[in-house]
Amino acid sequence: MHKILEMDQNNLIHSYNRFPIALTGGRGSILYDETGKAYIDLTSGIGVNTFGAADPVWLQAVGHQLGMLQHSSNLYANGPAAQLAKLLNEKTGMKKVFFSNSGAEANECAIKAARKYGVEKKGSDYFHIITVAGSFHGRTLGSLSATGQETLHAPYKPLLPGFHYTAPEDINGLKALLKAYPTAAIMLECIQGENGVTPLSRTYLQQVQALARQEGVILIIDEVQTGNGRTGALYSYMHFDLQPDMVTTAKGLGGGLPIGATLFSERMETIFAPGDHGSTFGGNPVCCAGALNILRRLDGPLLRSVREKGMYIRTALKGAAGIEQVTGMGLMVGVQTQKPVRQIALKCIEQGVLCLTAKERLRLLPPLNIPWEQLERAVQILQKVCAES
Ligand SMILES: *Cc1c(COP(=O)(O)O)cnc(C)c1O
Repeated sequence: MHKILEMDQNNLIHSYNRFPIALTGGRGSILYDETGKAYIDLTSGIGVNTFGAADPVWLQAVGHQLGMLQHSSNLYANGPAAQLAKLLNEKTGMKKVFFSNSGAEANECAIKAARKYGVEKKGSDYFHIITVAGSFHGRTLGSLSATGQETLHAPYKPLLPGFHYTAPEDINGLKALLKAYPTAAIMLECIQGENGVTPLSRTYLQQVQALARQEGVILIIDEVQTGNGRTGALYSYMHFDLQPDMVTTAKGLGGGLPIGATLFSERMETIFAPGDHGSTFGGNPVCCAGALNILRRLDGPLLRSVREKGMYIRTALKGAAGIEQVTGMGLMVGVQTQKPVRQIALKCIEQGVLCLTAKERLRLLPPLNIPWEQLERAVQILQKVCAES
């Protein structure tokens, strides 16, 4: 009955705290495990499957490219990558794109670009980068160094030098860091996803941007989790009227295939010369064809429905029995429960609903097109589980 689970246990490195099921397939927001049990999906594979499982329109775009050319290398131009970059630039006002394969790599690219910019424009000691405590920027040594979480750093010291962490909402602390270190960039998530869906305030974000401008420091926004429609805007910085110098994204951009993108503003667009950075799989035409399909569909009506569905979830859970607090924007929701979240997530699995946890909160990242009926059913189950657990 549980063949996959057992094989997984015996053969894979145990660096994940897995839930005890193996998923084998699905349609839209319904997924099936290896025993045939069905679940309503409030995870999207951690914000990746933007339009759910096996979305037919996305599948067709991906399948078409797969039948033409599966990979071309970066020695040659390819149509899907060029079109995707053009659309990203048009929709954000940014000027150039570098493609990679994950969020961590999108951030590595931004870190390298920021260092090169700081050192070239301001001087050889201007390589310092300030990030926010509680942030998550990835698992590679560079992006881990940027991540503001001591527990994740502990086993891997020494990390990359030059990273400093400022407490969220503490603008004076940020000023002090900028004074103490020759700084190339400030990097942040507008809503800290892995930190339990914890938003930064509009006032703070605006102050950070003003300070960055004043000090000639690059502002990098990590939209790996918050991007691509997740919060009800195309990118979350758009809610706060920010104009970042660089934007990084990944997760939901590919709709299920691995892709990372680093967006460069006019100020940054000439920082890399041939040979300065690269990625074998970056800009893979199949991944880009899928992402192009996703990005084209993230239009006004879709984003409005994301905001409506998010509002529905937050209203239904706020003040419900067993629930302390609800955070987030659009279909990125954090839920502070009275009972331990792991216990709630496991009970939800029993009841046929998949949800995520982040720190001490439940985290909900359903497919952006989850049908109302399934969303309502999942929320009812969540209410019941939180009330009785
Ligand atoms: C998931 C995530 C990353 C890392 O992305 P990977 O694709 O796992 O490398 C970076 N930043 C944020 C905000 C994320 O949520």
